[in-house]
Amino acid sequence: MEPNPQTQVAGDAQRRAGSSGTPLIHLEGVTKVFYTDEVETHALSGIHLDIQKGEYIAIAGPSGCGKSTLLSILGLLDSPSDGTYILNSKSVADLTLSERTRIRNREVGFIFQAFNLIGDLTVYENVELPLTYRGMPSAERKARVQESLEKVGMAHRIKHYPSQLSGGQQQRVAVARALGGKPSVLLADEPTGNLDSKNGEQAMELLRNLHREGATICMVTHDPRYARHAERTVRLFDGRIVDESMAEAQEV
Ligand code: ADP
Ligand code: MG
Repeated sequence: MEPNPQTQVAGDAQRRAGSSGTPLIHLEGVTKVFYTDEVETHALSGIHLDIQKGEYIAIAGPSGCGKSTLLSILGLLDSPSDGTYILNSKSVADLTLSERTRIRNREVGFIFQAFNLIGDLTVYENVELPLTYRGMPSAERKARVQESLEKVGMAHRIKHYPSQLSGGQQQRVAVARALGGKPSVLLADEPTGNLDSKNGEQAMELLRNLHREGATICMVTHDPRYARHAERTVRLFDGRIVDESMAEAQEV
């Protein structure tokens, strides 16, 4: 689908007007090269990307184009080979290891394709775990866990184990776990990849609702049907941004 330049200009203006001007996330000339067995893989080349607070953006593109690599860099799980990443007005390259870990735990909520819940912890314990790592007092943890599980409609399953839940329910719990820490940004890597289309749609609806409530979301998908849920779609191909388009009028 060709981007419509007029829609794009209007969208950009709207976005600028609605934001404070300083993006939450600013990438400039970001590259990532992997070296394995004397083979160089240029996973990302010259990525420029701004994400404003409150935006919902989709990163789309075929398998192997660099989507997960980009998300790992955004989530401080990996570092660029070159280029600048500014998160919340701070250059990520300048952070010490412990600052990096702290920011990753506090500012970023991850949602994975395979849910990545811990099998021998209950729903409650799964959502609680990252808050425990932070040293949050137990009463506050309890309130956060309850609130997050209510948001995703899973508060009635706190004593269940992941294996006792459907895929769709597991993903809701994983979303609750990501929300518990009240992160600045939710990063979702193919969140519908392991779900059938009905559960996939429900997971998308959940993300859309969170976005309406103010969450900043960056979602990776290879499926254009799901990319449509976002306000803006950035298309990657061979590690480069090849297209950027605003969604047509969002249904409310
Ligand atoms: P996508 O998520 O779009 O499918 P990835 O970001 O996972 O793509 O991968 C982009 C490219 O980088 C691929 O060619 C992949 O093989 C390569 N790649 C990803 N991670 C590594 C790694 N840890 N070591 C070597 N090559 C990697
Ligand atoms: Mg991937």
